[in-house]
Amino acid sequence: GSTLEIRDLHVAVGDKEILRGVNLTVKAGETHAIMGPNGSGKSTLAYAIAGHPKYTITGGQVLLDGADLLEMTVDERARAGLFLAMQYPVEVPGVSVSNFLRTAVTSVRGEAPKLRQFAKDLKTGMDALSIDAAFAQRNLNEGFSGGEKKRHEILQLELLKPKIAVLDETDSGLDVDALRVVSEGINRFRSSGETGVLLITHYTRILRYVKPDFVHVFAAGRIVEQGGPELADKLEAEGYEAYTKASA
Ligand code: ADP
Ligand code: MG
Ligand code: MG
Repeated sequence: GSTLEIRDLHVAVGDKEILRGVNLTVKAGETHAIMGPNGSGKSTLAYAIAGHPKYTITGGQVLLDGADLLEMTVDERARAGLFLAMQYPVEVPGVSVSNFLRTAVTSVRGEAPKLRQFAKDLKTGMDALSIDAAFAQRNLNEGFSGGEKKRHEILQLELLKPKIAVLDETDSGLDVDALRVVSEGINRFRSSGETGVLLITHYTRILRYVKPDFVHVFAAGRIVEQGGPELADKLEAEGYEAYTKASA
């Protein structure tokens, strides 16, 4: 199975250092939750791994099966088996969901899927996520509700079958039904045991449905505590106050 290794990662935005030495290893078959207060750098970790140009790597390494992700273009990262779902996906007028997904699958596999097979896989994926057929023809991310964005994110997972998935979840904008559908999607996807999942979240709510194997607490740009799923329960009961005080 695959391994994502983050070693002593330091990341700055402008001249402000935001990540201050993050160490984390995610293996296929494992689900890791990163939790932490707002502003602790959780999304910065996702953007840095994604290769967003605003985020400058000032130190450390990110390796996928030993290959240096930070040296790769965004496309190369996807082809290497990395999937990143962003908190604020961009709207792309004139590009339908269906076109976008077929292009993404083509890019990751290095060849275009046969139209008929793709249409079939797309329908299976959409049915499993209770997505209406008309959704495939809508413009990418245009006017998507929170629930539609999340379903689309999980649909991408099912079609792209990445080795490592990084999901930056707001949990906001998801009603209980949508949360359940999305969680079931993540659970279905990870049940193969062939994918490692890094689930970034401020709230513990989604972790009631997607049980993590490991929980890491982020504060002020570093991991300040690690544990098993019981750590999420503790955070739900006690909040982040202890960590924000300690790292201030
Ligand atoms: P979290 O996801 O844990 O809420 P973020 O990674 O979004 O935290 O933010 C961490 C810190 O980095 C915050 O102080 C935020 O203001 C700053 N930051 C993140 N991204 C940017 C950006 N693109 N421009 C300026 N500041 C940023
Ligand atoms: Mg360091
Ligand atoms: Mg965030």
